Amino acid sequence: MRLQDKVCIITGAGSGIGRTAAELFAKEGATVIACDVGDAVYDDPKIHFYKLDVTDRAKIAEVVKEVVEKFGKIDVLVNNAGITRDALIQKMTEEDWDRVINVNLKGVFNMTQAVVPYMLEAGKGSIVSTSSVVGIYGNIGQTNYAATKAGIIGMTKTWAKEFARKGAKIRVNAVAPGFIRTPMTEKVPEKILTEMAEKASLKRLGEAIEVANVYLFLASDESSYVTGQVIGVDGGLIM
Ligand code: NAP
Repeated sequence: MRLQDKVCIITGAGSGIGRTAAELFAKEGATVIACDVGDAVYDDPKIHFYKLDVTDRAKIAEVVKEVVEKFGKIDVLVNNAGITRDALIQKMTEEDWDRVINVNLKGVFNMTQAVVPYMLEAGKGSIVSTSSVVGIYGNIGQTNYAATKAGIIGMTKTWAKEFARKGAKIRVNAVAPGFIRTPMTEKVPEKILTEMAEKASLKRLGEAIEVANVYLFLASDESSYVTGQVIGVDGGLIM
């Protein structure tokens, strides 16, 4: 099994890609700490649910401490939680800007800052954060979201340098999905989704498992020489 005995935290694990990843990681032998702002129930006893909002720094500190006390370590952090509040900039409210920045960008900062001391102490670990093709190429109506997803790439490369100093072997990578069928894209009009599917070389949308499989590779020791990278999972949407 590819994650045997690893303790993995996944944020936004209540639905979509995060939930699929939690189930996949558990199947691959991991103890999964599945965090979400909403409620979630899982069949697999290796998945432990924690109700956690990635904007709540006090609660993050509490959960991370509890996880280390209970499970002894943290091997993997998957910063998967993310939201959209789309509008053209002329119509984007300050509240929508702030909320998306707080969850998608500051949430990744909050989680990583809380977890990395334990990884540094252990001298190893893998951090995977979810960016998007939108963070690289932009998208109409997504000023806030694109800013966060581009910011994740900057943080990923910075941390790949910072966390590898003094002999530490902490790898930090990002995944940039294209358009994936999840509750998030249910809000997107079918006409746009069909257009996006047509634009991809593979002529279809992606499935949550296809992103989760890349999380799995980056979380596992199979990617032991991969760090500071942004891996596209977009069916060839953008090349
Ligand atoms: P999703 O189905 O909406 O799942 C996101 C999960 O994050 C939900 O369970 C949500 O909970 C949770 N969440 C929201 N705010 C949170 C917070 N403050 N703290 C903790 N959890 C929170 O979306 P998805 O499509 O699986 O997206 C997963 C990641 O992939 C996101 O970062 C997204 O930006 C990225 N992504 C997705 C696509 C795509 O096409 N689907 C493309 C590129 C990138 P609630 O449902 O209770 O709010």
